[in-house]
Amino acid sequence: MSQRIVIDSLAFGREAGSLHGDLNIAGLTRVLDLLADSAGYLTYRVDGRVSPSNRSQLQLQVDGVLSLCCQRCLEGVEYPLAVRSLLEFVDNEGELTQEEIEDDSRDFLAAQKELDVVALIEDEIILALPAAPRHESCALPKAGQGSAKVSPFSVLTGLKGKA
Ligand SMILES: [Zn+2]
Repeated sequence: MSQRIVIDSLAFGREAGSLHGDLNIAGLTRVLDLLADSAGYLTYRVDGRVSPSNRSQLQLQVDGVLSLCCQRCLEGVEYPLAVRSLLEFVDNEGELTQEEIEDDSRDFLAAQKELDVVALIEDEIILALPAAPRHESCALPKAGQGSAKVSPFSVLTGLKGKA
C-alpha cells in the first residue's frame, strides 16, 4: 500500500488546501524502529494557509497511539501522540530574521514543489516522541525471575517432607 502524498508547498498554502486521512503505522518506516508494536493507524490533517508575512504555511496535526519500546523492560509503552506543528515555507533560509529563527511558534522549511507529506509527518512524529520512554513502574528483565525467589511456603513443604 502506497502512502505517498505529494503537494506543492507554496500552492497548497495559497489555495488553502486541506488533506486528512489515516496512515498505516506499519508503513511509517522511520518511526517503526522506535516501536514495540506497529499495529494500528494514525489520523492526520494538513491545512494550508498564508501567514501575515505572506508566506505559505502548513498546519499539521497527527493523532493516535503508538506503542514505544520501554527503555527499562523493553515491553511496549502506550504513547498518546498529538502532534500540532506549524510550518512556514521560505525560498531560502537567508531571508529569515534573527527574531523569526528564535520564534518557537513555528518551524521554517525550504519551499518545495514536491513536498512529501508522509515524510514530513514522520519527521514531526520523531521530534514529538520522548527520548527515553518508560513505564511509570516496571522491573528490569532478569534471567530466571520468579524461580530465583524462594517462597516461604515451599521451604515449609520441604521441611514437612523431611519430618
Ligand atoms: Zn517497562
